[in-house]
Amino acid sequence: MSFFTYCPNCKSTHFTFENNFRFQCNDCDFVYYHNIAAAVAVIFTFEEAVLFTVRNVDPDKGKLDLPGGFIDPKETAEEAACREIKEELGITVSTQDLRYITTSPNDYLYKNVPYRTMDIFYECPLVSKTVSVTAKDEIQELIWLNKKEINLERIGFKSIRKVIGEFYCQ
Ligand SMILES: [Zn+2]
Repeated sequence: MSFFTYCPNCKSTHFTFENNFRFQCNDCDFVYYHNIAAAVAVIFTFEEAVLFTVRNVDPDKGKLDLPGGFIDPKETAEEAACREIKEELGITVSTQDLRYITTSPNDYLYKNVPYRTMDIFYECPLVSKTVSVTAKDEIQELIWLNKKEINLERIGFKSIRKVIGEFYCQ
């Protein structure tokens, strides 16, 4: 099912939008690529523990997540990570504190628009477990979990489940 009802250029209803990726109008020349959106996620660690957030908004409200979010236009991935950390947790982190881990694709349905993301993962070791939530509208609470006690089923997004499973749950 398409999330466009009409061609945004000529209002025609004759178009193809296969897999919600390449929109092509059959009546005018309009073409639109619903490209992959880049996002960042930060894995804070302290000794053998990993910091998770509990989502307070859909999709996946109540499930475990990581601090992070979409990259804004003209930002680097590291700048986006530092900005999101500041907004969500009130912590100032420098781009050099972030260690690149890997990337993983995700699906993100928001208000009926099916976004496809490429999530970029960084690790950031902390010197204590003292962290608190700044963005209480987005995050219910923070949970530190020892690597051995992480239940992957409680993680909402498949990209995060995959990376935590592969890199932090041996
Ligand atoms: Zn058109």
